[in-house]
Amino acid sequence: MNAHTKGIWSGLVSFANAGTVEGAAKELHRTVTDYMPWFSQRDPFGLLSDEFFPVNWKAAAAEYQSPVQTLLRWLCSPKSDVDADTGTVIHPRDSLQAQGFAFLHEHAMHVGGIQFEEVPYVEEPKPNAPSEEVARHQESMKFWTSIGKIKDDSPLGAFAITRRYKDLADPICDFICAELQKFRDGEYEQPVPIFACPHCTKFVMPKRIGKKKFCSDCSNKARAEQYREKAPLDEAGDYQWLYRLERENPRVRGMKLKNPKNKKRIGDIKQRQLQHHSARCQRLIEKLKL
Ligand SMILES: [Zn+2]
Repeated sequence: MNAHTKGIWSGLVSFANAGTVEGAAKELHRTVTDYMPWFSQRDPFGLLSDEFFPVNWKAAAAEYQSPVQTLLRWLCSPKSDVDADTGTVIHPRDSLQAQGFAFLHEHAMHVGGIQFEEVPYVEEPKPNAPSEEVARHQESMKFWTSIGKIKDDSPLGAFAITRRYKDLADPICDFICAELQKFRDGEYEQPVPIFACPHCTKFVMPKRIGKKKFCSDCSNKARAEQYREKAPLDEAGDYQWLYRLERENPRVRGMKLKNPKNKKRIGDIKQRQLQHHSARCQRLIEKLKL
């Protein structure tokens, strides 16, 4: 999967995860324009002449965030799974099929045929220019030289291959259809490179597929949980060990304390005490002057 495709997937994940309409609008805008710069909409003019085309990203984000979440959840849910409580086989993908497929189908039907659009020459933006302007400039440099001459490396010259779309859900569904086709053609091992965290239901795009199970927040929480569960076990063992040492006659104890293995154990216990204070262990550490 190339960087461009990865960028679109991670943009869709951010759009679906966004907690506010403003955030969702920003992610939708970034995903659609940064990565699909020259798409055109049937009505009225298309992004190529965007001064005539006031896109209401907030309205689009409010309208499409929830159906895109359902669509992604459908695509990344497993075909079958075993219910942990009852042991019965369930089919999570089937339960989302009707809604997910309907949305994908509706918008894929809006996608018009290929057409050529002449890409305008976009001058290098000033420093601090909005990222959208920078992206348009960079994209235009695929077609034009820096002094405004059409590049002659492609037979198509300054013409970009675009499609006509009716609304902002269309490029998303078009992209997903193309990705599902790549999966069917054997280019990918999984239909989609994302998953939904089973704890918090947020979408995650892992660096490598199959490596991660939870989002980073939930993995951190799970790690902290594990530590809390393990800490009392260590504490009991440490206390027993210190207790036996304290009961030892002073000469034997002196010899034991010189043993490197025991020295290490004392170091480990002290380290654990820093993270997880235990009054009874602390008392013995003080008594033994460790
Ligand atoms: Zn999570």
